[in-house]
Amino acid sequence: MNLTIQEIAQAVGSECSALTKITNVEFDSRKITEGSLFVPLVGTRDGHEFIQQAITNGASASFWSLPVEQAPKDFPVIPVADPLKAMQQLATYYLEKVGAEVVAITGSNGKTTTKDLTASVLSEKYKTYKTQGNYNNNIGLPYTILHMPQDTEKIVLEMGMDHANEITELSLMAQPKAAAITMIGEAHIENLGSREGIAKAKMEITDGLVPDGLLVVPADEPLLTPLTATLVQTVTTFGIGNGDVHAEVTAEGKAQTDFVVEGETFTIPLPGSYNVTNALIAYTIGRFFGLSIPEIRQGLAHVSITQNRTEWLTAGNGAAILSDVYNANPTAMGLVLDTFKNLPTKGRRIAVLADMLELGKDSLNMHAQMSEHIDPEKFAMIFLYGEQMHALKEDLNQKYPQLPVFYFEKEKNKLIEAVKQNLESTDSIMLKGSNSMGLFEVVEQLQQMK
Ligand code: ATP
Ligand code: MG
Repeated sequence: MNLTIQEIAQAVGSECSALTKITNVEFDSRKITEGSLFVPLVGTRDGHEFIQQAITNGASASFWSLPVEQAPKDFPVIPVADPLKAMQQLATYYLEKVGAEVVAITGSNGKTTTKDLTASVLSEKYKTYKTQGNYNNNIGLPYTILHMPQDTEKIVLEMGMDHANEITELSLMAQPKAAAITMIGEAHIENLGSREGIAKAKMEITDGLVPDGLLVVPADEPLLTPLTATLVQTVTTFGIGNGDVHAEVTAEGKAQTDFVVEGETFTIPLPGSYNVTNALIAYTIGRFFGLSIPEIRQGLAHVSITQNRTEWLTAGNGAAILSDVYNANPTAMGLVLDTFKNLPTKGRRIAVLADMLELGKDSLNMHAQMSEHIDPEKFAMIFLYGEQMHALKEDLNQKYPQLPVFYFEKEKNKLIEAVKQNLESTDSIMLKGSNSMGLFEVVEQLQQMK
């Protein structure tokens, strides 16, 4: 970026006459570089405490919400009531100034993957920037916008939430030209009450959607139908086998999936038909912005996923590990189990499943229902970890008494030992659970085993 301090002050409704150029914005004083604007956010600690460190690292100015008398001398500060709000206002200003068109992605699962696929497609034709990593909240989103290069033509933003009204705020800040909802799952049902509540919260993405914009939604989600019916914007549905834009999956490999849309074939370097639905969003948005089929094909084939949540790794003894340990909810766990059980493997299939958190009062039932995705013909053994998984253990014992199920309520070390003892070099093992269950430790131990 390249804005004067004066211009920044005006953009956030404040005053500061300095004409020094600002080339970067940071709220972490350790990341400040020469020419940065420091944003002292107030969290568990007050960012103002770090102003000296910011100056030492090269900051050229700072937002400031304490009394001005407490500001460092001979250093330009921009007085604001709330530094976070000011950063958000500045992001909206910068977005307008750059003139980049925004694509916004939300949904219970698949946001990051879809963001990466869409940005990869759009970058075949336009200078495209995207959310780095998972910076998808009211701090990460303005931060992303403020870091886009000045010549950006399209910016693809991931929008996440835990509570109602959060996406409204993000959508109003970014004013998307195109928006997509990947799917409605059960994540955060504790806060939102029901799947209807979740669907409504995701629809907030249209609150800032421009009138001639596009909304892309799953065809097989009846909860969205009444909510999209009243929109003035164009609504396009997608799905496997149904929807305005529909795909047929033609080949599913360990690390690659082929599909056909409107008579054209495409390949993504990702496993699982759920990633085809993510790719359909990228396809639809690509078409909306005038990309050709070969451009879209190229963009999908060469996607690089910033933070691959479903990853193939290798155990120390040679076994194949499908690691998906950074979040879990019933829809995603079901889909990954279905994908894994249908992949061609030479050896046995083993699953390690840990608790899915924040599911509210129906949680035990949702855990038990995972048995629908487990087929004793396809799985050699199942390891379960966590209090909630007890419900699945009982269900599996009842349905498939012959299937070996090992259950560990709290002892992760015992789980690790048991998995290691049973894992053969020709096996394929998948692991999935909520991040705080710490299954990544199990993955690490398997990678290190002899
Ligand atoms: P977060 O809320 O943590 O930011 P996210 O929505 O960005 O998650 P991704 O990181 O893209 O989601 O994917 C996380 C996991 O969700 C994947 O590893 C996979 O298990 C599952 N997943 C991805 N896409 C879909 C989809 N379309 N439908 C259901 N599950 C999906
Ligand atoms: Mg994400």
